[in-house]
Amino acid sequence: MNYTNGYRDPGIAGQLADRIRRISRRKVRLMEVCGTHTVSIFRSGIRSLLPDTVTLISGPGCPVCVTDQRDMDAFIALAGFDDVIVATFGDLMRVPGTHSSLLKERAKGSDIRIVYSPLDAITIATENPYKRVVFPGVGFETTAPTIAATLNLARDRGIHNFFVYSAHKLVPPALTALMALPEIHLDGFMLPGHVSVIIGAGAYRPFVARHSIPAVIAGFEPTDILLAIAMLVEQIESGASHLENAYSRVVSEAGNPKALALLADVFEVNHAAWRGLGVIADSGLKLRKSYEAFDAEQAFDLVIPESFDPAGCACGDILTGRKLPSGCPLFGKICTPEHPVGPCMVSTEGTCAAYYRYDNDSGAF
Ligand code: SF4
Repeated sequence: MNYTNGYRDPGIAGQLADRIRRISRRKVRLMEVCGTHTVSIFRSGIRSLLPDTVTLISGPGCPVCVTDQRDMDAFIALAGFDDVIVATFGDLMRVPGTHSSLLKERAKGSDIRIVYSPLDAITIATENPYKRVVFPGVGFETTAPTIAATLNLARDRGIHNFFVYSAHKLVPPALTALMALPEIHLDGFMLPGHVSVIIGAGAYRPFVARHSIPAVIAGFEPTDILLAIAMLVEQIESGASHLENAYSRVVSEAGNPKALALLADVFEVNHAAWRGLGVIADSGLKLRKSYEAFDAEQAFDLVIPESFDPAGCACGDILTGRKLPSGCPLFGKICTPEHPVGPCMVSTEGTCAAYYRYDNDSGAF
């Protein structure tokens, strides 16, 4: 396979789809735990290639979507300080908080700037020595090492006006939390390739062993995803339940040691609140004491009004596979990408946005 288009080869995709159709007997529900997988599945029309026996469910894999409402309200509250510049990735701008959004606060005069890297926030801090620059830390194990490297740099350069509000999340504890939800039946997990590059395949072994559930680490090209589905179906049909790595060209057993060391240097594991899943033990990252001078939660006297999820929004149920977007009465009527009510319609990786953009619940287009 060449690296430009081999993983999108229709012939190979067709062979993999045939393999799935040939072996699939039982009705199965497989969850993809990654927003990038959700989008890739839609874009490439994978659902239309699958037999009726295989149902794909989207999980809590969109970092913006799983960010708890209180954390969103905290970002908005930070923007309210006169001496603060919020430097954020663009996808947070339109996420509705309880009473406002970063976009609305910017329109009202708050200094909120879109950056493409946390390093840009360092530059803003350097150029604005009399302002405090806050970066909302949202993302999984994939994003957190970059934030850690930025904090490392800020400390080395003696930058005192840069802060991070860490709302980072860890994937394996969320899988355990999903398994504990009584109303969800899942037969297997397609695990996120990006996150797995950092944490390594070995990070999932305790979870898979404890729950005896098939799990396959998958890449993001159509043939990667079809291969992972085939491997999951093969496991289920043969009664197996173990971890397999269908993305071994980049995911190792131990992960990326440099990134993991950076994470361990800057962050410690903490509980975290997830939209749809509530507070999960050991599922988040907070700044270590040695970095507390950069911790926005410590540095600011934050007053956050009581937080509520948007009225009528079923994002929490959608992130946990309890509902499809069509199960939300606001989907496509009141809530659209132009006028999002909840975060699942804002982010490009959001399940509601993907279903809206790529047609319907069947995923065929
Ligand atoms: S369609 Fe909109 S309101 Fe409904 S769950 Fe999705 S984001 Fe929330």
